[in-house]
Amino acid sequence: MEVALIKPQGFCSGVTLAVKTAKKAKEENPEKNIYILGMLAHNQILIDDLTKEGFITLSGNEFEEINKLNKGDVLVFTAHGHDSKLDEIAKEKGLITYDATCFKVKDNLNKIKEEVRSGHQVIYIGQQGHKEANAALAVSKNVSLYDTKLLINYYLITDESPLVINQTTLNFYELHKYHEDILRHFPKARIENEICNATRLRQEAILKIENDTDLIVIVGHQKSSNTNKLYDIALANYPNAQVIMVNKLDELKEINIEGKRKAAVGSGASTPQYIVDEIYNYLVNK
Ligand code: SF4
Repeated sequence: MEVALIKPQGFCSGVTLAVKTAKKAKEENPEKNIYILGMLAHNQILIDDLTKEGFITLSGNEFEEINKLNKGDVLVFTAHGHDSKLDEIAKEKGLITYDATCFKVKDNLNKIKEEVRSGHQVIYIGQQGHKEANAALAVSKNVSLYDTKLLINYYLITDESPLVINQTTLNFYELHKYHEDILRHFPKARIENEICNATRLRQEAILKIENDTDLIVIVGHQKSSNTNKLYDIALANYPNAQVIMVNKLDELKEINIEGKRKAAVGSGASTPQYIVDEIYNYLVNK
């Protein structure tokens, strides 16, 4: 089969840095267990690889998990950001902490904190329940969620010029819809587009797939927001192609792709490169 790799591929700089931070924690504390508070980044294969290397991912409620740790334990905070109350608990308990929060998420959280400090309200466009959105909402009760599916209760907003900011991994091509809706209610709202480059570049690349492509494979985990957005964009823009999302090669092998002649393979920002390569090689040899 003819196969095109949609670039960029592999870990984005935020995930690369998160993995480096976790490994640094291990190098600096060779005798200790290294705990990670949730998925370091949203890809199960990455988490399984880290587990094989001896890292322990704590997958329950973050506050319950942190409270089970003891003085001197080593804890890594994940790439998506976290509630700053967890920093306080870690400090009180005497944990050794490493912060793997992506620089772009940190920057986003700092803007929110600054707005709240200056007395403004913040409208945060994001996905309810996503870790990055939870971290943003935890900054203050003056941050209100504009959920991309449920929208917002505008009665919560009394500031006539709130800051409008968003989760970094949303659909670049849909963001303007939410902005227009908010501006209809608050014409003086101040809009910041916070989609990160890693997300935007991958989405732009999906739109450049050749039109006669009849199979599009998006590689990444269902919990990964940016991977899901690639899948949504491919589905919406290539009605004549079979569009599938898989986490690994075994899942692709279960899907009937008989008769397909031309494929394109894209991947999320937390998908290990070797998984993409395995899928590419499998398709090339079909
Ligand atoms: S996808 Fe964007 S926000 Fe998320 S870790 Fe990568 S660079 Fe950071």
